Amino acid sequence: MRPIRVKMQMIFQDPHNSLNPRRTVGNLIAQPLQIAGYDKAAIAARVAELMGQVGLPPDAAARYPHEFSGGQRQRIGIARALALKPKLVICDEPVSALDVSIRAQVINLLQDLSDQLGVSYLFISHDLTMVQHIANRLIVMYLGRIVETGSAETIWKHPAHPYTQALLAAAPVADLHVMRSRSRFVLEGDLPSPTNLPEGCAFSTRCPFATDLCRQERPILRPMGEGRQSACHYDLVDQLGGAANKSISSFDRKSEGKYKVGARA
Ligand code: SF4
Repeated sequence: MRPIRVKMQMIFQDPHNSLNPRRTVGNLIAQPLQIAGYDKAAIAARVAELMGQVGLPPDAAARYPHEFSGGQRQRIGIARALALKPKLVICDEPVSALDVSIRAQVINLLQDLSDQLGVSYLFISHDLTMVQHIANRLIVMYLGRIVETGSAETIWKHPAHPYTQALLAAAPVADLHVMRSRSRFVLEGDLPSPTNLPEGCAFSTRCPFATDLCRQERPILRPMGEGRQSACHYDLVDQLGGAANKSISSFDRKSEGKYKVGARA
């Protein structure tokens, strides 16, 4: 595992608690390099390089995390994660604990670093607008299960799974005309306990299209074209709040024939 760990690093959600307050910034960034066996001169040079890459001032190395703002602390976390030149960085809601005005700066920094260093991110987020901005591919999860996966562009324009459609319908849009033209859809029903999921589709307690089949049989991920997969028994692309902006009333719930169009084999 150890050689692989070097290639995979992590940026944590909370920049306040994820940094040891007893260590200086230089020491925090140097720690992965020390563990990897770098010599002192190489560590000093790499720490200075990383601080420059993430936009920290040179005198930051001798200071402590509590002397920095939330955004700067997250820059320290990013520098630490990049110290060993990983191929993949898992970003666990890296900006959700930050002030809204700082989020764009950190996201832009992550994008610039990805372009410069060729590092890939596995980005975990609840912020759909930001996800659409930063991601090439999306994986949408509901209660620990993947419900839809595909290119960000395809899913954003034409969501296939009803849960994805409900999420996108609720996402804020800057353009007032687009916002007004969207159908309004609010998820109803109880969220099942993650430790006691329904027998069939986990989303069946809240899905407006749920049928007996949904309540009995768990849908598996199946191809939906354009490199996309959806874990739904039916083809329901754009039925709720998607690009087509069809309202729920336009979907004939009583027509089993309509449900079955393109249904799984
Ligand atoms: S399988 Fe049924 S309950 Fe689940 S998302 Fe599809 S239509 Fe809704």
